[in-house]
This record gives sequence, structure tokens and C-alpha cells, in this order.
Amino acid sequence: IRLHMEGTLTARDKVGVQDFVLLDAYTSESAFVDNLRKRFSENLIYTYIGTLLVSVNPYQELGIYTMSQMELYQGVNFFELPPHVYAIADNAYRMMCSELNNHFILISGESGAGKTEASKKILQYFAVTCPMTQSLQIARDRLLLSNPVLEAFGNAKTLRNDNSSRFGKYMDIQFDFQGIPVGGHIISYLIEKSRVVYQNHGERNFHIFYQLLAGGEEERLAYLGLERDPQLYKYLSQGHCAKESSINDKNDWKTVSNAFSVIDFTEGDLENLFGIIASVLHLGNVGFEGDDQGCATIPDTHEIKWIAKLLGVHSSILLEALTHRKIEAKTEEVICPLTLELSVYARDAMAKAVYGRTFTWLVNKINSSLVNKGINTIDFTKKTVIGLLDIYGFEVFDKNGFEQFCINYCNEKLQQLLIERTLKAEQTEYEMEGIEWEPIQYFNNKIICDLVEERHKGIISILDEECIRPGPATDLSFLEKLEEKVGKHAHFETRKLAGPKGRKRIGWMEFRLLHYAGEVTYCTKGFLEKNNDLLYRHLKEVLCKSTNSILRECFLVAELENRRRPPTVGTQFKNSLSSLLEILISKEPSYIRCIKPNERKEPSKFDDFLVRHQIKYLGLMEHLRVRRAGFAYRRKYEHFLQRYKSLCPDTWPHWCGPPAEGVERLIKYIGYKPEEYKLGNSRTKIFIRFPRTLFATEDAFEFS
Ligand code: ADP
Ligand code: MG
Repeated sequence: IRLHMEGTLTARDKVGVQDFVLLDAYTSESAFVDNLRKRFSENLIYTYIGTLLVSVNPYQELGIYTMSQMELYQGVNFFELPPHVYAIADNAYRMMCSELNNHFILISGESGAGKTEASKKILQYFAVTCPMTQSLQIARDRLLLSNPVLEAFGNAKTLRNDNSSRFGKYMDIQFDFQGIPVGGHIISYLIEKSRVVYQNHGERNFHIFYQLLAGGEEERLAYLGLERDPQLYKYLSQGHCAKESSINDKNDWKTVSNAFSVIDFTEGDLENLFGIIASVLHLGNVGFEGDDQGCATIPDTHEIKWIAKLLGVHSSILLEALTHRKIEAKTEEVICPLTLELSVYARDAMAKAVYGRTFTWLVNKINSSLVNKGINTIDFTKKTVIGLLDIYGFEVFDKNGFEQFCINYCNEKLQQLLIERTLKAEQTEYEMEGIEWEPIQYFNNKIICDLVEERHKGIISILDEECIRPGPATDLSFLEKLEEKVGKHAHFETRKLAGPKGRKRIGWMEFRLLHYAGEVTYCTKGFLEKNNDLLYRHLKEVLCKSTNSILRECFLVAELENRRRPPTVGTQFKNSLSSLLEILISKEPSYIRCIKPNERKEPSKFDDFLVRHQIKYLGLMEHLRVRRAGFAYRRKYEHFLQRYKSLCPDTWPHWCGPPAEGVERLIKYIGYKPEEYKLGNSRTKIFIRFPRTLFATEDAFEFS
């Protein structure tokens, strides 16, 4: 059965409208939530705002991703079928093929809202529905199988999501001129390295550690010096949930192993890779003791020997590097012992650096296997791409730190792109059709982006300055610098320079940003350390001399010779965001906004409060307002005529004149009033101002 967007009167009451632009009370948040809830309770998880797709995580298999569903959506006009992620994918694909241009699909939403699942569904849709030649099957398989590998190393169980992506991911799917997927490219953003050494209660480390222990072959584990029980490893046991019923690590290991073989990893690569993974586990079990002077020692060198073997470094040098630090005096290097606390810090920093850089290596390695070597230069010029961006949405917790600051800054930038692109698209369409355009008032969040990123003046620059300042800089002195330099900014507040009274208190170490989506209070504790992300030079030297070929690619001697400080984490992130924005700006956008219906991962539970919150943070009301400012509904003449021609004897059954004239006759016959619609003068579309006009036509159609 085809369920059309317009629906009948009764159907609308029951299942809501399938496009929010058809809501009469389009400025009312309650009406928005009502519509979403109605649909959700009917298992209709998708709803449009124009061409943007809103998706609510059903937390159950709905049987809407079958082969026959995929076939249904193939090549069908966007609005002829119920909203679906396949419609978004298909629309982007067909536009790309017909206009030979590049597209991207931006998927956002908070953790557990269904972003990664949506991106997988899209990838599967392309894999199944796109044309394919035998020789290109391998390219397709690698694209699909890059997912389980990246998820093993980049995803983890958190309180919000049992398979939470702990990195941002942008993936280009490349198509040749016939629309055949021929290759891909992946860029990753901000992998959450801190998870390698610490997990909150109820959370796990990255999946791969548990998969290796549960599924790894006996000989492999013996070679790596590992036992099967995750409880034996400090880095795996802090969250107290190494075993999780929803996760089958043993099976997942098989999937990942198989994926590795398809993506061109040799046994040598795997030996090196798992040597690194195992040495991280051994590293976590390295224990320190303090001697009489408070200097750190390592009483048991068992683990050190394993690490030395697996990474191909000298155990005595490694041992020294974990307990000592080289300080450069004027003419010579002085080696001084580390305190117990600093040794622990050095050990964890090493584990994080090793894991983080190995992840980057892994992404690069996958990328080189996704390059289609068979493509010649002529094909290359005709190659087009669809980019999939699966990236963390706005985050507001009770305590927000450096990570939330980066993530929310990222969302601020993406919001800016969305608003500008939507407004511009609306404006261009109206202009093209010769329809009068009334400028829409909207909040331009550039002012907040500037507050964060402006050179020399923005928060990231101020943080960087504190990080390199000689003398004792602390998270508190950073806060004081902020107060001094951006204290008067309209979107910034601290306790000292607080804005209006009577709002939630700001603590001593905190500052508050007024984001486009609302206020977030950040605690500056840890900002300096996380931004610096320091790995002692001594340890770097050890890693540069490793005989593990992956590590040698990750830690280059050039880095030691370069005396300039590497860019800070904040600055690196800012730069990578700015190149991401460049990538996106040159492409045609589609948007998917994912919403989590409840905090308990349960089906059929719809928490109004939680949903309302997300609607706000996703900027959905703003988007709807922009879409509705002019006309609620627009449709190509052909499609409008096709659907409603039966209502008018002049056009039924076989209108053979131009569609625009047919539509003119049709609406004259139905009796639209002049203020209710406009006909675009470039002869492509009819614009209808109010939903009720369309509903009346639709009801007439249903009952005719
Ligand atoms: P995010 O990437 O936004 O953090 P995920 O895509 O990993 O969230 O989704 C979290 C979980 O929710 C998935 O593991 C799956 O169990 C469930 N889920 C998400 N989307 C769907 C869907 N469309 N149908 C069924 N279950 C889903
Ligand atoms: Mg995810």
C-alpha cells in the first residue's frame, strides 16, 4: 500500500503529517512533538521537514529495510512514498547521476539516536541498488567491510549506547560516470583516546580489546602473552562490565577477522597491529612503587618485557623512559626521575598516544585499500561522490569538559552551514521561479563560532596561549584569561562576570557559552592537559626506535628533530573542521536528524521531555520556520498534475498540453484563491501557501 504524505483526514489525525511543513501550527514546539509522537506510536519513525529527514530510533527491528523496500524506493519521486532513509539516499544518488555533481548526507543527533545505523543503511542501499560490474565487486565489499573494522577500534559500550562511535566519521563513496561505486575515502575526527586508559562505571574500552581476548586464536594469544579473561587487565576492568549481554565479542571477532582479509591486510600487518593492541593491555598492568625519595620504580618487569618484545624496543630503555624524564638544560640533557604520579601519567599518555596514532594508521590503511587502482584519468574527471557524515551531535551533560566543548563547537559550525545553505536554497528557488522573496529573520550563529575560533582572540587561541606560556599556567589561570579577554562577549559568562541573575549557578572553575541551541556550562578542569596532550620526549624517542613497522610509521624521527611544538588538540580540531567545511561547501546537501526517544534503549517509549530537548538542540524549529516562511508546499507541475488531474474534466485522463497549463486549468477548476498559491514563472513548480489548501484538494482526491 502506498501511504501518501497528504493522507486522508482521519489518517492525519492518527498518524500525523509526514512532512512538518504541513503542520498548521508550525511555530509550536508542542505541535511538533505531538506529530512525532503520533507517528512513533504507529511505528512511523521517519518524518520530513521539506527535504530534511527526521528519524526517531525505534530500538526494535521494524522490517522496513528489506530488499523489497529498497526496490520500492529506487528511482521513485521523493514525495510519492512514506519518508525513509532510502528516499534520501536515492534522491542524492539520482541527482548525482543526472547532474554529475557531488553530494553529502549529514547525519546528526545525540549519542544513541541512530546516526551510525542510518549511515550503514545508506551504504547498504547503495551496495544493493547501484549498478555493479564483476570487477568492481571488491571495491563495494571493501567499502562495506571497512565498517566493522572501524567500529571494532573506534566504538565502545557507553551508558548511552552499547555500540557508541567514539570518533567522528566522514566517508566519501566514489562513483564512476555510470553510477557504479568504485571506491571511497574516510576521514576520522577526534577519537576519544582517554577511553583507552579509563572508563566510567558501566562502560567499556574499545570493542577490539575484548574481541581479541574472546575470539583470538590460541597461538595468537600465546604469542601476545595474553589471557582470555578481561578482568585481568586494568584498562579493561575499571568499568566493571567487561561482559555485556548485548555484545557477542567472539562472533564480532570473526566478522572483523574476515573484514581484515578482504581489506587487504597481510598476516604481517595483523601481527604488528595486535602486537600494539596487546602491548596497550600489558602497559595498563605496569605497576609503580615510590622509593624513599618519592621517585617511581617498577618492581615487576614482567609486563615491560612483553611490551619490549611486541613493540621491538629495549626493555631497559622503556623502563627508564617510564620512570624518568629528560630535561634539556643549556648545553646538555639531564635525566631526572619522575614521581609516582607522573610515571602513571607518562604510562597512560603512552597508551593513549599509541592507540590514537594506530587508529589513524588504520584509517589510512583502509583508505589505501579503498583507492580503486583500476581507474584511469578519464574516468577520474567524471567521478562523483556522495559523502556521509556521521558525527556527534550537541552534548550537554551535568559536567561538560574539553570534549563537549570541541563537539559543541563542531555542531555550531555545522549549524551555520545548514542555516546558510537552507536560506540560500530557498532564496534561489524563489528567485528562479520569479516569486517575491521576503527575507527571513534568523539567528546567525557566526558570532559564536568566532568567539570560539577567531585567531588571537577566540577561546581556542587563548587556551593555546596558556598552554605555551612559560611559568605556572593552570586551568584556573586559563579561566581568568578568558574573563579578561572575552568576558564582555554577549555569548560568554562566568561567575565573576555573570549575566542576568536567577539562572543556574556557575561554579568557580566554570564558564558558560550561550550556544545557538542553548546554554552549556563548561568546567575548565583538564582543559590545559587535554589540549596539550603531552607525550614525554623520552617516550617518543623509544617509540621512534620501535621495530614494529606500524609504530615506526606513526612515530617519525622527524617529529623529534622538529623543535617546534606540534599544534594543540584544539587547534588541530579547528583546522580539521575547517577543511571538513570546505569539503561540504562544494557539495549538495541532504540532512538526517536523529532523535533518541528515551534514555533506556527501549522500544515504544516516547519521552516528551527528552524529545523536546533534542528538537531544540537539533535546530529543528528554526529549520521548519525557514522552510515555512514563504510557502508550505511546492511541487513540480508534472507531479502535481499527475496526482490531482482526476479532479478536473479538462485534464482527465490524458492531458497532453504543457504541465504548467494543465495545472492552471486544474486549480481554476478546483477554485484556489489568488492568495493561496503562486505559479513559478520558470514553468517548473506550483507553490501553495497554506497546508489547508492542499489538504482540501487531497480530501477531494481521496473521496473522488
Ligand atoms: P548513534 O550512532 O547515533 O550513537 P546508533 O546508530 O549506534 O546510534 O544506534 C544505537 C542503537 O539503536 C543501535 O545499536 C540499534 O540497536 C538501535 N537502532 C538505531 N537505529 C535503528 C533503526 N533504524 N532500527 C532499529 N534499531 C535501531
Ligand atoms: Mg554512532
